[in-house]
Amino acid sequence: MHQKPDADAMGSSLGMYHFLQELGHTVSVVSPTNWADWLKWMKGCDQVIDYELNSEKANFLLSEAEWIFCLDFNTLVRTKRMAAKLSELSATKILIDHHQQPQTENFNYGWSDTSKSSTSEMVYDFIVASCHSDKINIPISECLYAGVMADTGSFRFSSATASVHRMVADLKDRGLEHTRVHECLFDNFLENRLRFTGYVLQSRMDIFYEYNTALISVPWKDLVKYQIKTGDTEGLVNYPLTIQGIKLAALIIDRDDEIKCSFRSKGDFDVNVFARTYFEGGGHFNAAGGRSSDTLEQTVQRFIRAMKENALQLQ
Ligand code: 5GP
Ligand code: MN
Repeated sequence: MHQKPDADAMGSSLGMYHFLQELGHTVSVVSPTNWADWLKWMKGCDQVIDYELNSEKANFLLSEAEWIFCLDFNTLVRTKRMAAKLSELSATKILIDHHQQPQTENFNYGWSDTSKSSTSEMVYDFIVASCHSDKINIPISECLYAGVMADTGSFRFSSATASVHRMVADLKDRGLEHTRVHECLFDNFLENRLRFTGYVLQSRMDIFYEYNTALISVPWKDLVKYQIKTGDTEGLVNYPLTIQGIKLAALIIDRDDEIKCSFRSKGDFDVNVFARTYFEGGGHFNAAGGRSSDTLEQTVQRFIRAMKENALQLQ
């Protein structure tokens, strides 16, 4: 899975993990970095190896592996420090991913489909296509449902197709309790996160009405003050899009080791191209991310210049 995994990265990986275990395989799950506390309810999450914390064990397992499923990323840089190890391995690497512009030369086999809502949906399709639907148990259902739900914005984006709803219906028929998954993901935070959200919306958000754009920029000191941890800022970038007329929302966070950017758009503004052009990133048409090694202030200025360069598309 990709670094700082979200619900789709973790859900698709653990869904695949439980499925392959059902078939009798020996399976390990490796994350390039740590992950949010609100993913820890997923069955098997306590078995996931954090590459940064335990690289020796992870490197050993990777060297021993015959097959490596690469889920929810399509370019090795998304695995941060794990990238060098992955590129030197001779194991068969199988890509399953829904992001744009895959680096196909890095994988032996691949299934890349940008029309898919989520990698979790693709893992479900993979299980069904392999004629093993009967192996879909409650942990598999919960992990895959969480990934699909998160990546479709709770089934509101256009990627929530009829097939997605049919998948959910099938998981429900197999006993999925979807309210439990929603509560685990959305009603499972600590007070500091909500106070932080209120603070940054009040004090760190700028609206550029001329460009239908909103920007939230968060200095490192805010993260320290509110004791913000991995995953606590997930979803923050969506708030400005709830303002009438806003087409582009950006979140720029100083994480101390690097500046992380998130972009979301409504309608026909392509943030995948925007993130690739200005912020060494990528993602999807309406949701993408990137980074910067400049200061927060310089990155904000770069964003404002980029926004102005895109004035026509934003109006
Ligand atoms: P987020 O803003 O939630 O971090 O990411 C939004 C989407 O863009 C996700 O699908 C994520 O995988 C992708 N993404 C985020 N950051 C990067 C990046 O630095 N490079 C690329 N290629 N994709 C990214
Ligand atoms: Mn995804």
